[in-house]
Amino acid sequence: MNLLFLGPPGSGKDTQAEKLAQNTGAKVVSTGQVLREEIAKGNPTALKAQTYMQQGKWVPDDQVYAILAEYLQTQPDTNFIFTGAVRRVTQIELLDQALQKTGKQLDKVLYFDLADDEVMRRITGRWFCPQDKRMYNLNYPEITPKNMGICDVCGTKLEQREDDKPEVVKQRLQEVRVNDAEILAEYDRRGLLVKVDAAPPIAQVAEKVLLLIANHG
Ligand code: AMP
Repeated sequence: MNLLFLGPPGSGKDTQAEKLAQNTGAKVVSTGQVLREEIAKGNPTALKAQTYMQQGKWVPDDQVYAILAEYLQTQPDTNFIFTGAVRRVTQIELLDQALQKTGKQLDKVLYFDLADDEVMRRITGRWFCPQDKRMYNLNYPEITPKNMGICDVCGTKLEQREDDKPEVVKQRLQEVRVNDAEILAEYDRRGLLVKVDAAPPIAQVAEKVLLLIANHG
């Protein structure tokens, strides 16, 4: 089963994808994370994409999907949970094509619904470990680091992503809202869309996700 998780930045879709992956054995593919890894490797297409990312803008479709399609082909037997892979309506078709190349299809789309003010509050509290990529959030007791500013697991100094700073977040959110309506309408038309309230605590949302996946087969 291949799933797509949608939602504004900070809606918890990456955290939920990781939890579900632990329960199902699927692999999480965050396009933002794949892009950052490819940038670190010096992939020339990803280096072009980096300019957009640093400005809080979306990377052009052809660049994102050249990288994503290549990545998927290296793991033909894996079930995926995609996060952030469809941000413009044009990417619906591109994700289908990338999946088809390895004989797969998208089975369900979960939309993690969250209001703007809560999005801002969550994102500006977000920190990560540059060493093991673990995410923390100062606004959420269950994922606040035990020692302020330090990774619980490896002790590395935590960092804030350039694109999690308030001005950049506002711009990202504006783009998200404009595009989401169109994307959701299309997945709804296809009968793939399920909406999830992303406001409750992480564990509660995770339970709901498991139920939805089970109920929708
Ligand atoms: P994220 O880690 O999901 O917040 O993504 C970080 C950045 O990667 C975004 O702000 C975009 O610049 C870029 N990005 C990730 N996924 C996509 C996508 N599907 N389309 C365009 N840009 C993307």
